[in-house]
Amino acid sequence: MLTINEIFYSIQGESSRVGQPCVFVRLTACDLRCSWCDTPYAFDEGRKMSVGDVVAAVERYPCRLVEITGGEPLLQEDVYELMQRLSGTGRTVMLETGGHRSIARVPAGVLKIVDVKCPGSGEADKNDWTNLDILAAGDEVKFVMKDRADYEFARDVIVRYALADRVAAVLMSPVHGVLEPRALSEWMLADHLPARLQLQLHKYIWPADTRGV
Ligand code: SF4
Repeated sequence: MLTINEIFYSIQGESSRVGQPCVFVRLTACDLRCSWCDTPYAFDEGRKMSVGDVVAAVERYPCRLVEITGGEPLLQEDVYELMQRLSGTGRTVMLETGGHRSIARVPAGVLKIVDVKCPGSGEADKNDWTNLDILAAGDEVKFVMKDRADYEFARDVIVRYALADRVAAVLMSPVHGVLEPRALSEWMLADHLPARLQLQLHKYIWPADTRGV
């Protein structure tokens, strides 16, 4: 069984698949409390569903892209079976994870988007750095930043782990309404940083606090 916060169909707002229609499966619960978290409703709201029921709900949408997110999806043991079964439907399966739980058991072929928490999140001491050693070429690494200190932290990690040479995308995401995208863009350009600016597209399409998009 899984505890599911919501399942919805929307435009992918992040990652290298930004702009593509996508089915989202949001799992309930998280053991972090990032200062800028935009999904606190996923901490404890949810309903029990079997893995089969979740797969059936996803299959109701004629869409080949599905993202498993949270909360922190790797907290629930049955998420591994869910990833396996969704992959078996021929869909491209993405997993968004906070970066503090090991990704070692994620099935091959699932595209992992792994956060590295910056100091401004208040949770940087929880990063599981071993995750960065076992990334696959199709995976992506994401930094959410609220200020210059976060940017410098991310820049150092990108260089130290040679991330740009090892994964499909290194994503630099300003906290919406806190860090100006222009400032982050100018820092990236000044440093010739091999990374990709990421704005949360869904927050520009719909009001920033809209759920289920
Ligand atoms: S890991 Fe994600 S869901 Fe958990 S507190 Fe941080 S931003 Fe929110």
